[in-house]
Amino acid sequence: MNFEQRIPREASARLFEEAQEYFPGGVNSPVRAFRSVSGPPLFIREGHGSHMIDEDGNRLLDFCCSWGPLIHGHDNPHIRERVIETVLRGTSFGTPNRLGNQLGKLILDNHRYVERIRFVSSGTEAVMSALRLARGYTGRNKIIKFDGCYHGHVDSLLVKAGSGLATLGTSSSAGVPETVARDTLVLPLGDRDLLERTLSEHSGEVACIIVEPIPANNGLLIQDRSWLECLRIKAWKHDVLLIFDEVISGFRVGFEGAAGLYDVAPDIITFGKVIGGGFPVGAYGASKEIMDYIAPVGPVYQAGTLSANPVAMAAGLAALEQCLAPGFYVEMAARTHRMATAIEAYARERNYPVHVPHVGSIFWLAFGTERIERADQIDAANMQYFKIIHHELLQTGVYLGPSGYEVGFVSSAHSETDLQEGVAKICAAMDVAFG
Ligand code: PLP
Repeated sequence: MNFEQRIPREASARLFEEAQEYFPGGVNSPVRAFRSVSGPPLFIREGHGSHMIDEDGNRLLDFCCSWGPLIHGHDNPHIRERVIETVLRGTSFGTPNRLGNQLGKLILDNHRYVERIRFVSSGTEAVMSALRLARGYTGRNKIIKFDGCYHGHVDSLLVKAGSGLATLGTSSSAGVPETVARDTLVLPLGDRDLLERTLSEHSGEVACIIVEPIPANNGLLIQDRSWLECLRIKAWKHDVLLIFDEVISGFRVGFEGAAGLYDVAPDIITFGKVIGGGFPVGAYGASKEIMDYIAPVGPVYQAGTLSANPVAMAAGLAALEQCLAPGFYVEMAARTHRMATAIEAYARERNYPVHVPHVGSIFWLAFGTERIERADQIDAANMQYFKIIHHELLQTGVYLGPSGYEVGFVSSAHSETDLQEGVAKICAAMDVAFG
C-alpha cells in the first residue's frame, strides 16, 4: 500500500533513523515503531491539553493520551504546578515521604476495595508483584489468565493458549522458559464451563485468576457483568484469589475502576497509568490481611528504589484529586458516548462495517458489525482498514495509537469542539477506507 504524504514528516524520519543507532528497532517500547501502520513514527516535541506537536511542527488532536495515563490531557496546569513545586525540594530520598501518605490516603478513602496499597513504578511491576503476593499468600503456583488480556511483560503472563483443548500455556516470547509458562493456564474469556473444569482439575494448585475486567489491549472486549460475577463466585468456591488488572480501567472508568463500575469485589487490584498523572507509577492493593503478606510485615519480598518518589506522588495526587471533582466520570463517559455513537451512526448510514464499543472514556474502532467480546473474534485482515484510517487521520491532524488493536482515550482536556472535530475527521477517514 502506497500512501500519499500530505504532512511533513522529515524531522521525525530523520530522528527515527538516528534512533535506530541507539535502540532496538529505534524504540524503547515496540508498538511505538509504527510497524502496524505506515511511515516513520512521529517524534513528539510537546503536548498541551488535547493536542501534541511533533518535531515537524504538525499539530495533532491526541486520542492516545500516552496510552491512557493522561486523563486530564497534556501539561495539565494542576499537575504541572504540583510537580514543579515538588521538584524544587529534591526528587527522591529513598525514604518515606508525606506525599506518598497523601496519595495513599486519597485512594484508600475513596476506594471500597482497597485497604492497603503499595506503590511501584509501572503497571508491569504492579502485576508481577500481585502475582507473587497471590502465590505467597496461597502457597500455590498456578495462575489462570484469559486469552485477549494483556498484563504487561511479566514472564508468567507472556503466555498464550496451548494447542487444542489443553489449557496449559506456552510462552509467547522468546526468553520465557516453558517451565514458567506451564504454570499459567490460559482460557478463553467468557467460557464458564471450561473455567469450572479447569479449577476442578487443578484443585489445590491454583493461586489466582487474573483478568482485565475491561479487556482493553486487544481492542475493547467489553464483558458482561455476569462474567465478572462468575469469576468472583468461582474464585470463592475454589478458594483462589481473584486479581483485577486495572492498569487501564483503574481511575479511568470511575475512581473505583471496573470493580466499582460493575460492583464486583476482587481480592487484589493492580493499578498503573492514570494513578501516576503521567509519571511512572504503578500500585497494587488488597485487604489488610492479604497485604500484610508483603515485606517487611510478611514473607513476600517486593521493593523499589524509586517507589513512591515524591515527584511521581505529587503528580498522582494532582491527577486523582481532579478525578474526584463531582460529576467528573459521568461527564467523561457522556462525552465519549456522544462521540462514539456519532461515528457509529455515520458508519451505519453508509453500511461501513465499523462499530465503536466504548466504556467510560475508552473507545475502540472495531471492524465488523457484530459485537466483539473475545480476541478470536477479531479478523486480522480488517486491520488494513485501520492502516488507511490511521494514515488519513495523521494527514488531517488526529493521532490514534498506531495499531488497530489499541483503544483510544478521551481526556478532560478534550473540548466539545475537539470531539466534534475528531468525529468529522474519523468519518472522513472512514470514507477513504470504505468509500
Ligand atoms: N496491565 C494492563 C492491563 C496494561 O494495559 C498494561 C500496559 O498497557 C500493563 C499491565 C503494563 O503496564 P506498564 O506498561 O506500565 O508496565
